[in-house]
Amino acid sequence: MTMKVIVHQFNIEPTDEQEHTMFQTLGLCRRLYNTALEQREIYYRQTTNCLTYNKQANELAALKKVFPEYRTVNAQVLQDCLKRLDNSFQRFFDGISGYPHYKDMYHYNSFTYPQADKQDHFKRPGYIYPPKIGYVKLNAHFEFDPSLVSRINVKFHGGKWYANLTSEIEETQCYGLLTQVGIDVGLLSFAAFSDGSKIENPRYYRKSEKRLAKLQRQLSRKKKGSKNRGKAKSKVAKYHAKIANQRKDFLHRASYHIVQEYDFIAVEDLQIKNMVKNHCLAKSISDAGWGIFIKYIEYKSKKFGKILVKVPPAGTSQTCICGEHVPKDLSVRVHECPKCKLKADRDVVSAMVILQRANEMCA
Ligand SMILES: [Zn+2]
Repeated sequence: MTMKVIVHQFNIEPTDEQEHTMFQTLGLCRRLYNTALEQREIYYRQTTNCLTYNKQANELAALKKVFPEYRTVNAQVLQDCLKRLDNSFQRFFDGISGYPHYKDMYHYNSFTYPQADKQDHFKRPGYIYPPKIGYVKLNAHFEFDPSLVSRINVKFHGGKWYANLTSEIEETQCYGLLTQVGIDVGLLSFAAFSDGSKIENPRYYRKSEKRLAKLQRQLSRKKKGSKNRGKAKSKVAKYHAKIANQRKDFLHRASYHIVQEYDFIAVEDLQIKNMVKNHCLAKSISDAGWGIFIKYIEYKSKKFGKILVKVPPAGTSQTCICGEHVPKDLSVRVHECPKCKLKADRDVVSAMVILQRANEMCA
């Protein structure tokens, strides 16, 4: 029997009080990690021996006596901090990565319950219970089996909180349990995800477009066949190349992120979509970027063994996940379903519909 480890990522919504505790937990974990790293360095300088994980973990009880604030953090979570440090050293000794770094708040943004007690954390429907934090609202955008969850990681990323749930399952069961995402191209933002997150258009886009328009105006004023016109032409061409490079770089980073985060990726089939003639310029431009984006996701999916499903695009923006037809023109930003009462960003709902279609296709 082959077992496979899979990770689901769900958005969680802590209350203000819970969020305060979560930030405090992150801060304490980071302090523990850095202190433990320093302790290892001092120990090494004095004895030329390495301090082990067990030795450091045995000191946790004493640490809580001196610094009672550590009692507010779950014991497993503290052990996990030391384990992370130990793993970093192992990777360093094995020559896989560099010497462990001290972490700042941007590089220490999650804490982990390494031995989740299966369904104990999911007794209340729609909530997750990370010990010492309390019941936090969990936005599970697809079904998962709580009894299989063996590890919970709570992460703060891009201003939002996520729960990464690790399950170990038989290879044959994995289908439908993979981390899934539907992606919709937006007009205001670059892409919207079915879990409610978004990738914004890079700010330089608009700036670059303005500058390009100015260069093009200058070009049009030059006399045909003149030397100055040639100069202006090459300026425009150079600027086009610069924008293209910026865009490529952005698309590479965005597609890499998606393929790293998700196993099952659903997008609209653009070849069909392109057959519909579009008179909205901004939409055409974003569609062009979207085509390259899908290509990048496609080959990265193959490289990393992920699944990419393209679904028929018809009506994804006019439908609710409950099946109700919810018509709206481009100016309406919020989807409000009269039937199931779902109210959310229109592009996010489209992304959910896209994911739903992909699942139906693969069922
Ligand atoms: Zn609905």
